[in-house]
Amino acid sequence: MKGYGKVTPEVVAELRAAIGERNVLYEDKEALENYAYDTAGRIFAHDPEAVVKPEKTEHVSAVMRVASKRRIPVTPRAAGSGIAGAAIPIFGGVVLSIEKMNHILEIDPVNRVAVVEPGVVTNDLCKAVQEKGFLYAGYPMSTETSFIGGNVGTNAGGGKVVRYGSTRRHVLGLEVVLPSGVVIQLGGKFRKDTWGYSLLQLMVGSEGTLGIVTKVIVNLEPLPGRTVNLLAAYPDLDSMVASVAEVVKSGTKMISCEFLDRFSVKVTTDYLGTKLPYQDKAEAYLLIQIEGETDEELEKAYEKVGALCIEKGAFEVFVAESRIDSAMVWNVRQNLAEGLRVYDPYCSLSGDLVVPLSEIPQMMKVIEEVSEKWKIKVANLGHIADGNLHPLAVKPDDVPPDKWGALAEDFYGELIGEAVKLGGVGSGEHGVGFLKLPTLLATKTPEETAIHRAIKLAFDPQEILNPGKLVHQGACAAAP
Ligand SMILES: Cc1cc2nc3c(=O)[nH]c(=O)nc-3n(C[C@H](O)[C@H](O)[C@H](O)COP(=O)(O)OP(=O)(O)OC[C@H]3O[C@@H](n4cnc5c(N)ncnc54)[C@H](O)[C@@H]3O)c2cc1C
Repeated sequence: MKGYGKVTPEVVAELRAAIGERNVLYEDKEALENYAYDTAGRIFAHDPEAVVKPEKTEHVSAVMRVASKRRIPVTPRAAGSGIAGAAIPIFGGVVLSIEKMNHILEIDPVNRVAVVEPGVVTNDLCKAVQEKGFLYAGYPMSTETSFIGGNVGTNAGGGKVVRYGSTRRHVLGLEVVLPSGVVIQLGGKFRKDTWGYSLLQLMVGSEGTLGIVTKVIVNLEPLPGRTVNLLAAYPDLDSMVASVAEVVKSGTKMISCEFLDRFSVKVTTDYLGTKLPYQDKAEAYLLIQIEGETDEELEKAYEKVGALCIEKGAFEVFVAESRIDSAMVWNVRQNLAEGLRVYDPYCSLSGDLVVPLSEIPQMMKVIEEVSEKWKIKVANLGHIADGNLHPLAVKPDDVPPDKWGALAEDFYGELIGEAVKLGGVGSGEHGVGFLKLPTLLATKTPEETAIHRAIKLAFDPQEILNPGKLVHQGACAAAP
């Protein structure tokens, strides 16, 4: 197969004729640069040759027809909050930004769904459905910046997976533009479907490599009953981990269970100018959100959880009953990435291991040992009840910034290898992008890799959609 085509002035003229002058950026270096990187960091930037901003499905379809005619790479992009480099146009070509397709089309209470365009900011959907008495439970911690389309692209998880599952569980239907420009409809306003292979589920988490999502039908949950947040401070990691296992076993209606280590808390509270209780001696914290139908049920539940945490060694368990107390506690978790990036602008946010809950103690030890061996400091945190840890690596002073990206991924590569040995995987929510592709390929069998590639080629025979991400790139395109 011939190499990739270039975005020439003729191609730009064709794109502008198809979707409007205002929706195509070309030769504006400053504007194009904004689409060259995502939250993995500018060190991984690759400039696009053009950026298109379709306003409707027909525009997306028209762009893909132009691109497929000339084999021009197209990288779908939502908010660019991804941290695996999945939205970076590593082969140049066109970045297709869905930022203008940002309308909530319908909130349907009878079918308990919302129908949205992919450029809707996740939190805008959460707020809109909350006003109608519903919860959109698939949102990640980056809810204020990420878009629904990006959440579908990465199968985003977040703080409430332990109770509600990841984005995949909440996507009921999709409209998708294939690389050829053909539009297909998958799923719908229903919750059961054994009508053939689930292309719908395949599309979720496919990182824009199979098709471009132009409409999403999401499941809505009833709003939870009363909730309370608990903050437990621990003298060591072992007692914190032991508490999680007990709380999970207890059958309490737990909505969230987040872990933060001492260093994560220090960096974030320094950034926020606050302090958590016991901060001078606590090595780890758990932030647990619990639900109850009535005040009595809730009180019983949090007393039970609090007692379990104390029994396993917590110094103290604080109950944040008021909105203000709860916001203060969650603020630390939600500002962690920002705090870390202020502490170290090169801090890598891409650590995202998953192991069975029973293997968390061993994984914690491995993270300590491997960090010591590589002399890399990590902030360790995560959605611990899901077995999902985010060891986030700080750049050592003696490593130059241009060497750091690759070094950090090699470091994560060793950790991922250990996680796989413990029955886990190398990413629970951030995805593969191009940063984790070599490690993904190293941990999959040749048979699995061949199936992945066959699926890619079935959707995208010319490999123009987000090339170099998630699946092994064929010999038909030179590596960037
Ligand atoms: C502070 C912070 C906290 C975070 N917390 C979490 C968390 O708790 N859980 C979590 O899962 N992630 C988290 N992330 C990572 C990131 O926010 C998520 O991966 C998010 O889902 C990405 O959404 P986005 O809109 O930014 O997508 P982008 O980064 O723009 O794109 C992500 C992928 O989706 C593809 N894509 C985008 N739009 C489409 C489309 N219309 N059709 C097909 N493919 C498309 C892109 O090609 C790319 O492969 C966090 C990031 C930050 C910075």
